[in-house]
Amino acid sequence: MKLHEYQSKQLFARYGVPIPKGRVAETPAEAKQIASELGGRVVIKSQVLVGGRGKAGGIKLANDPNEAEQLAEKILAMEIKGLPVRKVLVDEASNIQQEIYLGITNDRAAKKPVIMASAAGGVDIEEVAATHPEKIIKVHIDPLLGIKEYQTRDVAAGIDLPRNLWKDFSNILRGLWQAYSENDATLAEINPLVITKEGRLMALDGKMIIDDNALFRHPDLAEMRDLDEEAPSETEARRYGLTFIKLDGNIGCMVNGAGLAMATMDITKYFGGAPANFLDIGGGAGAEKVAAAMRIILADPNVKAILINIFGGITRCDEVARGIIAAMEEVKPKVPMVVRLVGTNAEEGRQLLANANMITAETLADAAKKAVAAAQSA
Ligand code: GDP
Ligand code: MN
Repeated sequence: MKLHEYQSKQLFARYGVPIPKGRVAETPAEAKQIASELGGRVVIKSQVLVGGRGKAGGIKLANDPNEAEQLAEKILAMEIKGLPVRKVLVDEASNIQQEIYLGITNDRAAKKPVIMASAAGGVDIEEVAATHPEKIIKVHIDPLLGIKEYQTRDVAAGIDLPRNLWKDFSNILRGLWQAYSENDATLAEINPLVITKEGRLMALDGKMIIDDNALFRHPDLAEMRDLDEEAPSETEARRYGLTFIKLDGNIGCMVNGAGLAMATMDITKYFGGAPANFLDIGGGAGAEKVAAAMRIILADPNVKAILINIFGGITRCDEVARGIIAAMEEVKPKVPMVVRLVGTNAEEGRQLLANANMITAETLADAAKKAVAAAQSA
């Protein structure tokens, strides 16, 4: 789950990271009000869950409350990368001398969190990584030991930070690490962390991604989820306890078990197809859950065929079959469906589906081939 800039910065601030004064507005009038409370120049920033808002024109400086109102009106009418802007953050403007990148994420290969920092901040870090990888400093953190003082100094030295800012920088980096680890984040990023003309460090932008599977222990963060910003299919999937990830292909996959779902996607690709999604209906899924999964898959206009692969252990194949039939009556799918059922009550399940105009398969390879062929001829 991604947090908005304003949410990330407020969270960082709780761990001692300095952020500009400011508040979120949903109307131009509110933006004007906040600007007059802050006094002086303000920056109006669209709150959408994508990067590159600055380049897209979603960030503007205003000299006074009236200009703040006008710019807020413009920005609130924008769409950035397809996302309508519903809120703007009105922050005290900063005088920027230098922009630094500072982030913590998981390094899967190293099996450790990694600090990344660069003196070439402000811009897309992916771009820096691609064109000037030597400008990015990386320091791994042992999750059991936490961050050590010498490591914060290594990072500060690595980005040529002026000596007089090292102590503040160290506090910011430790705060960022705490925010990252205590909240089960997979990313905590400040881009830019600026050195102001007054010689202070300040986090102007913030981004956080929280591990969805850890949200149960952070109810306060779970509440921050902005449903407006989420694909409706993902909201629906979560409501039914389904693990769903949308992909770009045209074969909708419904599988029980994450490992089996991955194997199903792999074999679909092996036979020349492209999965439209990852979907794990979980163990012991009943008819209602299966129906929801079917609705979610069919809501994707790219889907040209559906591949259902169920290994009935705890999950009963007849229950799944009933769910499929119920969903078919409800959503009336027009795409071919290939089903492979094996395990508990598979025979009953197959009998139920026999009348439902489905392509059945005995093996996974057979099912995948049939699904790929069905999608290609569609
Ligand atoms: P992003 O484009 O979505 O990453 O949004 P950012 O919050 O990082 O802002 C983009 C850029 O706008 C920053 O890199 C700064 O150059 C500029 N910017 C943001 N806030 C201020 C500010 O208070 N004063 C000035 N002068 N520039 C700002
Ligand atoms: Mn940024």
